[in-house]
Amino acid sequence: MIVVMNPGASGEDVNRITEKLKQMGYGVHLSSGEKRTIIGVIGQRREEAAQTLEAMPQVEQVVFITRPFKLAGREFHPDDTVIKLGDTSIGGSELVVMAGPCAAESEEQLMEAAETVKEAGAQVFRAGAYKPRTSPYSFQGLEHEGLNYLHRVRSETGLLIVTEVMDQFTVDEVAHCADILQVGARNMQNYFLLRELGKIRKPVLLKRGLSATIEEWLMAAEYILSGGNYEVILCERGIRTFEPYTRNTLDLSAVPLVKQLSHLPVIVDPSHGTGHSYLVPAMSKAALAAGADGLMIEVHPKPEEALSDGPQSLNPDQFKTLIKDLKGVALSAGRLL
Ligand code: PEP
Ligand code: MN
Repeated sequence: MIVVMNPGASGEDVNRITEKLKQMGYGVHLSSGEKRTIIGVIGQRREEAAQTLEAMPQVEQVVFITRPFKLAGREFHPDDTVIKLGDTSIGGSELVVMAGPCAAESEEQLMEAAETVKEAGAQVFRAGAYKPRTSPYSFQGLEHEGLNYLHRVRSETGLLIVTEVMDQFTVDEVAHCADILQVGARNMQNYFLLRELGKIRKPVLLKRGLSATIEEWLMAAEYILSGGNYEVILCERGIRTFEPYTRNTLDLSAVPLVKQLSHLPVIVDPSHGTGHSYLVPAMSKAALAAGADGLMIEVHPKPEEALSDGPQSLNPDQFKTLIKDLKGVALSAGRLL
């Protein structure tokens, strides 16, 4: 359930109720909006507890949340969540572009890609050091060495870094160089990993699972939020359907739907969503028109030589052209790029 405080309730009033809830054996999560504070109450549903709370001064209403996701839902947090990282905001009026190669392949490749995406206007650099590959015989990523290169990218370009963390044992190592930790589609329901990410205080980019429903995706986010980490960015990257012409089917209807159900920022990855670089510009524009808060796009200095996902990666010129074209789309969607 949630406890909605009166607009005039003070911090002390909120503390009093919070203490009472803890005494009653409930877990408590606070959401302080512009107008009022909402207390998310986690535990057994009890009518008499709701009545006791409703009788307390400064409590406007106690509402039972029927959806299984509580902290990810709009009832608990009516305002959009805006995640601030330095000068970059994710989920506000400005759009965020995360771009870079699928994988860190060498220091030179990373630096070149980073300069390209920075010049074009991306705020966040992406590249995987730990790579979840379908085949054990494919390039598996540079692992720790790749993270060191990403560290250099961050200090020399000032770009923010998003990179994938594959298990609960490497969270600290990845968090050392990442501004945003990415959970890949294959790991969306790795609950040990999600729980560990609930304990850190850095944003997590949670990709939608290969065949996850929207509810399963939001429940995965709930694992991170319920651990106390409220900075989750959702990323639609396509789901598995019967269609083989595209690598995945990019579910753009998920964007306005999830934004209605949840306050969390939603970005779209048209690269994994389609598998083809020639489809990326159209789907990037469509994603912004659908209300996405940003994009994650694969860009490689030489896509034909990429060790992974070359066919879906844009080359530097294609990326620069796309960013220019997206500015108009952003404007007509009432956003800034
Ligand atoms: C990636 O972003 O490099 C990646 C592996 O994506 P996904 O988890 O969406 O397949
Ligand atoms: Mn990739």
